[in-house]
Amino acid sequence: MNVRVRFAPSPTGGLHLGGIRTVLFNYLFAKKNNGKFIVRIEDTDQSRYVEGAEQYIMDCLEWCGLTPDESVQHGGDYGPYRQSERKDLYKQYAQQLVDEGKAYYAFDTTEEIVAMRERLKAVGKDSLQYDHSSRMSMKNSLSISNEETKEILASNKPYVIRIKVEAGEELSFTDMIRGELIMSTDTVDDKVLLKADGMPTYHLAVVVDDYLMKISHAFRGEEWLPSAPVHILLWKYLFGLDKMPQWAHLPLILKPDGNGKLSKRDGDRLGFPVYALNWTDVEGNVTKGFKEEGFLPEAFNNLLAVLGWNDGTEQELYSMEELITAFSMDHIHKGGAKFDYEKAKWYNQEWIRKFSAKELLPDAKKVMEEAGISITEDERFEDIIQLVKERCVLLGDFYQQTAYFYQPPSDIDTASILPKWTAEKADFFNNYTAAFTDAKWNAASLEESFKNLAAEKNIKAGELQMPFRIMLVGQKFGPGVFEIAARLTKQEVQSRIEKTLSLLSN
Ligand code: GLU
Repeated sequence: MNVRVRFAPSPTGGLHLGGIRTVLFNYLFAKKNNGKFIVRIEDTDQSRYVEGAEQYIMDCLEWCGLTPDESVQHGGDYGPYRQSERKDLYKQYAQQLVDEGKAYYAFDTTEEIVAMRERLKAVGKDSLQYDHSSRMSMKNSLSISNEETKEILASNKPYVIRIKVEAGEELSFTDMIRGELIMSTDTVDDKVLLKADGMPTYHLAVVVDDYLMKISHAFRGEEWLPSAPVHILLWKYLFGLDKMPQWAHLPLILKPDGNGKLSKRDGDRLGFPVYALNWTDVEGNVTKGFKEEGFLPEAFNNLLAVLGWNDGTEQELYSMEELITAFSMDHIHKGGAKFDYEKAKWYNQEWIRKFSAKELLPDAKKVMEEAGISITEDERFEDIIQLVKERCVLLGDFYQQTAYFYQPPSDIDTASILPKWTAEKADFFNNYTAAFTDAKWNAASLEESFKNLAAEKNIKAGELQMPFRIMLVGQKFGPGVFEIAARLTKQEVQSRIEKTLSLLSN
């Protein structure tokens, strides 16, 4: 079997991490089975279309390294890959269904549909849908005569085509995650297949395109489960159930407290990104993305893969190659996966640790440059990255962790030094700077002379190290203080010591 999977986003806005996880599972499944990963743009809903969203989605995929084999931008033999460019194709299938009595023309106005719902509500009906029980009270080619239908069609009045769903039918399919599912058509409405503007709805287009693009497996969010009956009927009527791809309805990504689906608003409310890349809406509001928040794509893919999947072992860190090897659909969980931002950051930290300083250099350099510090010597910066990378959780942390190697701290935490500060300690630092001329400029020698001098002055070296750190860094953080000093010039260390000593004496 030729494995062909697809990600079928609608270009309506930012790409939620659930969407990227769907891409990832598609991608892993395709790679694992020597298959093809296709991206199809489902842009038939003109009212929800957002300019720029398609490019944005492709940018997100590119950042994640989830490159499609076929797409609008990558080409392929089954194009066009944008549904709006396939408009005429769908019409013929809708027409075929009408001709075979599986679908019908409906001429109702929006007001008439609203009135129908009111009417049903007033008599206490549970279902207020356009369906087997209400369709004959509406204006459609089933309720009016053939002549009248022909007349209306000839008069160019707007119409839609609806699927005719018969009640009392049992439909079933085997979901790759959930097993056999049986659904009844009793509560399924007569969904619109072709809209008044001649565009198909999602329901018609997804079935037609999955068929024409020879999709073997379709993975989508579990929110699409209620649409399954209509899709099964369309497969049955148009192409045969044996042609239907194998479906997998992926579990939701839940809010951190497990209470419902994680939404963009949860991210805004709780202060973490929910999109892959920054998304700017038409009003200019920016929703934060993982990339801009300082995540490595390797970490992002890793943390998404384990949201709702594991390979049955304790392993948490996976490279893309490892994911491809370990991935299998039967290890996807049925229940939703809670999103935990602290855990997400842990993944990033681990990936920063895994990477060499050389690999981190371009990203870290960008962080510095954006903060106004230009890095001219890559070798020195690489050495500094190596020294501090253990301390970075997000890429942006490279700024705080390395800026003091490039500029003296503007804010010096003398308040932390003062309570235990003595004239003897001040004297120690004056002597220590004087001794610099003799010291070899490396961490070990600096430490040795520091300790020797402390012993000579009868002060505990430990009590002097915190003040020394604050003199160099401004605050109580960073790697070993002598490692820091060794990476500054003698002159710079001296000047930072002097500056703090003068602040302390005032
Ligand atoms: N266009 C649908 C969406 O935006 C695709 C669902 C599917 O994969 O079938 O989610």
